[in-house]
Amino acid sequence: MEKHHKFSIWYVLLGIWAVLILNNIIAGQIGPKQIPYSEFLSQLHDDKIKEIAIGKDTITGKMVGKDGAEVNFTTVRVTPDLAKDLEGHKIEFRGEVESTFLRSLFSWMVPIFLFMGVWYFMMKRMGPGAGVMNFGANKAKIYAEEEIPTRFEDVAGVDEAKAELEEIVQFLKTPERFTRLGGRMPKGVLLVGPPGTGKTLLSRAVAGEAGVPFFSISGSEFVELFVGMGAARVRDLFKQAKEKAPCIVFIDELDALGKVRGVGNLGGHDEREQTLQQLLVEMDGFDPRVGVIIMAATNRPEILDPALLRAGRFDRQVLLDKPDLNGRLAILKVHARRISLADDVNLKVLAQRTPGLSGADLENILNEGALLAARADRNEVTMADLEEAVDRIMGGLEKKNRVINEQEKQRVAFHETGHALVAAFTPLTDKVHKISIIPRGIAALGYTEQRPTEDRYLMSQSELEGRVDVLLGGRVAERLHFGEVSTGAANDLQRATDMVRAMLTQYGMGQTLGAVTYNRRNQPVFLPQDSLLAPPAQEYSEATAAALDKELRQYMDGREKRVQELLQEHTDLLQAVAERLLKDEVLAGADFMAMVNKDSAGAQKAAAAGHHRTSHKKKEE
Ligand code: ADP
Repeated sequence: MEKHHKFSIWYVLLGIWAVLILNNIIAGQIGPKQIPYSEFLSQLHDDKIKEIAIGKDTITGKMVGKDGAEVNFTTVRVTPDLAKDLEGHKIEFRGEVESTFLRSLFSWMVPIFLFMGVWYFMMKRMGPGAGVMNFGANKAKIYAEEEIPTRFEDVAGVDEAKAELEEIVQFLKTPERFTRLGGRMPKGVLLVGPPGTGKTLLSRAVAGEAGVPFFSISGSEFVELFVGMGAARVRDLFKQAKEKAPCIVFIDELDALGKVRGVGNLGGHDEREQTLQQLLVEMDGFDPRVGVIIMAATNRPEILDPALLRAGRFDRQVLLDKPDLNGRLAILKVHARRISLADDVNLKVLAQRTPGLSGADLENILNEGALLAARADRNEVTMADLEEAVDRIMGGLEKKNRVINEQEKQRVAFHETGHALVAAFTPLTDKVHKISIIPRGIAALGYTEQRPTEDRYLMSQSELEGRVDVLLGGRVAERLHFGEVSTGAANDLQRATDMVRAMLTQYGMGQTLGAVTYNRRNQPVFLPQDSLLAPPAQEYSEATAAALDKELRQYMDGREKRVQELLQEHTDLLQAVAERLLKDEVLAGADFMAMVNKDSAGAQKAAAAGHHRTSHKKKEE
């Protein structure tokens, strides 16, 4: 990079000067002969001048030279009066054009400077990345931050993520320990999570803990105006990183760069694709033992090009979700360190009031509180300040973000508890791993996560029924407690219906329809849930369709009845778990089962269900 000299005004000046000099020299050598005015006059008297052209300052023309040949000449005029006086005094006199060199230089330079000034101003206004002259590599310079003050203790409420990254820190500190046995460290770690959950902060903390330099760039900065520049920046970044190894390269907004490569888009995204390609090449190309770890952050992992996630690239993913109650409290505590709080401040209450907020939002609340206190000229931030800050921030976020109100939260709690209890009481279903009523993503207000205990390749009818029951558990629980269902259960219902439909039409599991496949679909794989969602093409008669609808309805009714009975028997447990969930927002699978087992009827039922074999991980939302 140092080889690229800076574009400098001095080069321009030097160039202009050289051109002028050259111009003069050439003019002197091949131009007409310069003669003094006195010589011109004497030649005139001798009738040697053949023809002349009279200009304002000069006279040019042809005269007969000493050897009789014609010579082009030029002379600078002297005022005729003066010339008359001078003539006959035997002196040589010549006219002199006052040097116009500086003047002409000036008349050149002023507009140039003016133009450059305006240009510079415009470039500044447009900001980096704009403008045609910006393609020089100097803008691409990415500096490493050498000493990062951030530590793990500054990042709160994300203990699992920290534990995963601890290994990276150890590797950066003492790479020999890992490479001695031929082990390979991950090259890339992808931090996934909603905005403001501390992805950047955590990457900086890894660099800080390990004491290594930190290169940081945003994915969108790579995507340049000119094709090829983004790729050049990637190369440059990796070159620098290798020089500074061990170090961390952090790419924010990886999705800006790593979106799935489109098929047949008309060249518009070539630049991005080239850049992405270069990134992949660089990631594949370097030896992991040099100690460069690439960390990237995204809040849209689903749109990333799968090539990025392959082994040897971003093969390790760390999830940073919105914090739960304890997480929020911990984050508030971290940021409260630098604020002088009054004695009446209860951070726990604040944490309870702020479900669905991210770490960045919480930091914002404390900041806002401090500003409110400062405005009122107080020396300490009081609870009232912070309460008001919460109102402000939540109010602002309510519109654009999902912040759930108390009633909705209750509904979600009962809904999720319903899923979880049905899962616990139904044989052959996956273990409940976690229940959460923290909103996540766009669609889910809460979720019950089930984890399979082993890999499965086929499913029996009762297993499928178990899944349908778990899906129905949410709406049944809502109806039991609130007397009606809500729109939140619509997706569950749809998925349950699709499953039952598939059971009847594809797998011959119905009573009246027999062992016939009613529609063929090119989907040999059953297990991926989404494959069930495509509406089947009809390949059967109207009569069959009617029979199918009838059986579908009966089947679903039957399932719902079972779930209804199941949950009705355990309303106390439903109530207890939902309340606990309302309090803690997240319930680990083990804690949930402990509650179930404490309830004697529940324990019996769960034992009878004998649990836990089934297929891939799935989530009921
Ligand atoms: P992201 O990169 O995930 O969008 P950032 O790391 O930029 O989020 O977080 C923005 C700010 O929010 C951080 O600088 C920090 O002050 C605060 N913050 C976010 N998450 C946490 C956390 N888990 N602990 C402490 N502070 C946090």
